[in-house]
Amino acid sequence: MNGPVSNALSPLPQPMVDPFGRTISYLRVSVTDRCDLRCFYCMSEDMTFLPKADLLTLEELDRLCSAFIAKGVRKLRLTGGEPLVRRNVMSLVRSLSRHLKTGALRELTMTTNGTQLSRFAAELADCGIRRINVSLDTLDATKFRAITRWGELDKVLAGIEAARGAGLAVKINAVALKNLNEDEITLLMAWAHGNGMMLTLIEVMPMGEIGEGRIDQYVPLSLVRARLAKQFTLTDLDETTGGPARYVRVAETGGTLGFITPLTHNFCESCNRVRITCTGTIHTCLGQEDASDLRKPLRASPDDALLSQAIDRAIATKPKGHDFIIDRRHNRPSVRRHMSVTGG
Ligand code: SAM
Repeated sequence: MNGPVSNALSPLPQPMVDPFGRTISYLRVSVTDRCDLRCFYCMSEDMTFLPKADLLTLEELDRLCSAFIAKGVRKLRLTGGEPLVRRNVMSLVRSLSRHLKTGALRELTMTTNGTQLSRFAAELADCGIRRINVSLDTLDATKFRAITRWGELDKVLAGIEAARGAGLAVKINAVALKNLNEDEITLLMAWAHGNGMMLTLIEVMPMGEIGEGRIDQYVPLSLVRARLAKQFTLTDLDETTGGPARYVRVAETGGTLGFITPLTHNFCESCNRVRITCTGTIHTCLGQEDASDLRKPLRASPDDALLSQAIDRAIATKPKGHDFIIDRRHNRPSVRRHMSVTGG
């Protein structure tokens, strides 16, 4: 008879559990803070970007992500800035996709503004990406240009078509913006649902100095939902994607609508995620100033022991939750970082 097999196996890694008992299984990686758009609520027009010399190489990003996967991350989202403007980003996607093949990673996905999708959609699908989020706040070309400061709507729509043509499921994310797209939400929803795409609405968050107060941008989604409920039959769905969105089924369109409500109702108690930036900083909460450096331990040694310890120390500092507020008295950023640095 053979001896017990289990002795021959290496022990399973300890899951990453924060001080509030939340298991961390979702990593969002901002592969660049640069973007080919300048959405006015995300960045200031004369944004200062991180010095290129501070960036991790794609190989280092791969090693960092792989260390998290070895420690129990099952879902990984590439974001930015605009992930598809980082030079050779597809080599990172391709190499991370090996973790899908081994089953270590359940999902590799991306959030993009869609401008480069015509070029990259087929390759993303070929790398095993099944779903992507595309950020699109309006279907009006003039408003799109105003929001993004110079973007072309047609390019994004063509990118979405290319993604769907490549077999990717597309979810549209739209930030609700006062006096800009709040009257267009029904139209956006009809378009998304009519094309078999989910739509998720997001409350604007007070992140980073953008040269104007947030009070003039912020629309509470509780208000948007109440308006929609006058016209549509909204039924709460229990399902979540493990993220902060809560979903409703819209009877009239047959589609799914999500609400991400960091201001009117936060869901920090079930937060399973951490974020790393392109310079190797880990932020364990989107809405707090907490930050730990992983670049130094990553570079200090070719094996991952120091890195793994640094990750554990960072997870041990994960705050209970954010406390974003936007009102007349709190019209300043809650955190200094822009969304483009942290990775939205
Ligand atoms: N460039 C990619 C994109 O456009 O999806 C990925 C990065 S972008 C920072 C990610 C998401 O964050 C976008 O949906 C964007 O609209 C959203 N976003 C940026 N700044 C925000 C803010 N202050 N509050 C809420 N959402 C924000």
